[in-house]
Amino acid sequence: MTRPIRLEISLPAIRRNFQFIRQHSQSRKLFAVIKADAYGHGVLDTAKALADQADGFALLNIEDAARLREAGIRQPIALLEGPFDAAEAAAMADYRLSGAIHTLEQMAWLAKGSAERLVDIWLKINSGMNRLGFRPEQASDALTRLRSMPGVRPAAIMTHFATADDDFGVAEQWSRFAPVAVASGLPVCAANSAALLRHPLTHGDIGRPGVALYGVSPFDDATGVELGLEPAMTLSADIIAVQQLQEGDAVGYGRRFIADRAMRIGIVACGYADGYPRLAANGTPVAVDGQASGTVARVSMDMLAVDLSHLPQAGIGSRVELWGSQVPIEQVAAAAGTISYELMSAVMPRVPRRALD
Ligand SMILES: *Cc1c(COP(=O)(O)O)cnc(C)c1O
Repeated sequence: MTRPIRLEISLPAIRRNFQFIRQHSQSRKLFAVIKADAYGHGVLDTAKALADQADGFALLNIEDAARLREAGIRQPIALLEGPFDAAEAAAMADYRLSGAIHTLEQMAWLAKGSAERLVDIWLKINSGMNRLGFRPEQASDALTRLRSMPGVRPAAIMTHFATADDDFGVAEQWSRFAPVAVASGLPVCAANSAALLRHPLTHGDIGRPGVALYGVSPFDDATGVELGLEPAMTLSADIIAVQQLQEGDAVGYGRRFIADRAMRIGIVACGYADGYPRLAANGTPVAVDGQASGTVARVSMDMLAVDLSHLPQAGIGSRVELWGSQVPIEQVAAAAGTISYELMSAVMPRVPRRALD
């Protein structure tokens, strides 16, 4: 036996979420975003699960793209940040990868390519996020240059929204991007999960759903379940000890929790070295054998404590869901002052992961 903690991934949930996004969006094609090991869900398992539905995949590193090709994935695979050096630009042709181009340096690397092995390029426009991309007024020159290169084929014009998930919305960025997109005559690739769920104007030809595939909400005002999605990741661990506290007893490092009454607590085999956020506030939701409860005291490296005072049947061996279908990860993230994206992608390799079909 191993330490009683596990990460379970529901591949059917990911498939149903993909279908949900397909039904609720107008993009002609959907490229499943599987960067960061598919947000912690496993890049190979996720790609295989979506192989008969997704029009393509999008990720960051060429090693993952190569693994997908070696595993028999035939769809287009796009590198969201394009090549990081000349060798990667050359490898894009070898592995039949497409990708974003956002600098003149990347163009120079790709300029060495040949017409026999065309690389599909998404020209990336910086419409206001100010991370990557050509400014709108540079787009036409960039496109002219791309069109003069023998080894590339401009396949889309792309941008990324900074605020599709909040009240600021997409109007400002869209007003900068749309005229450039129209002038280019290229297919439009702009919408992330939030835009696919709430900004139909931006759906265009290729959508890039990420977080919603995993059943998680990009919005502050609704959980994935409330949106109609199904969480695909469950992190759970077992209770390995029980403590009976008297009023005034302290728990954990720094005596940061003092019992204000007699309490029964369970010690769970999950800590921040598993990826559970150390900053999770006292009372962060958990489910103990399916019953709602909350955390108690500071999270340690390998353990955390939960309140069992109202759960007399719970004890050693009880299963505690840290997040999943019973405990929305969005609520755990909020209690820790972070976002679900960070929690999902930060589960540590020491937690055994199992994909369920
Ligand atoms: C991560 C990413 C996405 C997906 O974003 P979600 O909010 O997870 O849907 C889309 N496009 C780009 C460029 C990204 O980096």
